[in-house]
Amino acid sequence: MNHIQGSLIYEGKAKRIFACENPDRVLIEFKNDATAFNAKKRSQIEGKGRLNCKISTALFELLELNGIPTHFLELHSETFMFAEKISVIPLEVVIRNIATGSLCRETPINQGTILSPPLLDLYYKDDELGDPILTEERLKLLDLISDVQMKEIEKITRSVNKILKEYFDSLDLLLVDFKLEFGTNSSGELVVADEISPDNCRFWDKKTSDPKERILDKDRFRQDLGGVRDAYEEILKRIQKDSSNAP
Ligand code: UDP
Repeated sequence: MNHIQGSLIYEGKAKRIFACENPDRVLIEFKNDATAFNAKKRSQIEGKGRLNCKISTALFELLELNGIPTHFLELHSETFMFAEKISVIPLEVVIRNIATGSLCRETPINQGTILSPPLLDLYYKDDELGDPILTEERLKLLDLISDVQMKEIEKITRSVNKILKEYFDSLDLLLVDFKLEFGTNSSGELVVADEISPDNCRFWDKKTSDPKERILDKDRFRQDLGGVRDAYEEILKRIQKDSSNAP
């Protein structure tokens, strides 16, 4: 590799971002650190960085193939990927196909309810405020993005959901919900950023109906179910079995 790892630009809960010689690029390192409940619960999961880096690579490649703009450029090594340097939009965009998690804690909607059309929830990305949910009017008040950009974010998120839902369905996995983050690159283009992995997606194994056994994502860590790494390995294994999209 002729790219020398530059200075640390930012360290988050699960990733570190390094500068590159090319100012329009960054190198993203996926860490083994696991956090939940706004980092009140913390642990290390051996191999998580490698698994999330590979899973994200495969999914970003799949999205790019389907015409979705992402910040992903190329895999660098086991736990590092190159991405476009972006200006992060402080929004967490969650899309839900099946009701679980905060939706069921905060509303009377029953666990497992199929959400058709999928439900799109927006949160303000701020750990100190605990990532509060936004109404349309609060979003306008914050003046983070234009109406046009918001419509584009919703359109891209719904397309990503359609692509990933169909893809995971073919791997015998239900894509329950996931969170996307967006940014703008040096050309001002809106791109999907961050990562797409079992850290920010919920996957249920279609091969079992046991409500605990079927969980193949970070809920295993959140709920102390054990087998976190095995669950992430299983997601990567199924992606790699799909020969058209092996990282
Ligand atoms: N999510 C995330 N980061 C967050 C909050 C949620 O990646 O800070 C993901 C989470 O993994 C799930 C989806 O967004 O796939 C919906 O999460 P939910 O709102 O149900 O929150 P939770 O139950 O995890 O508190």
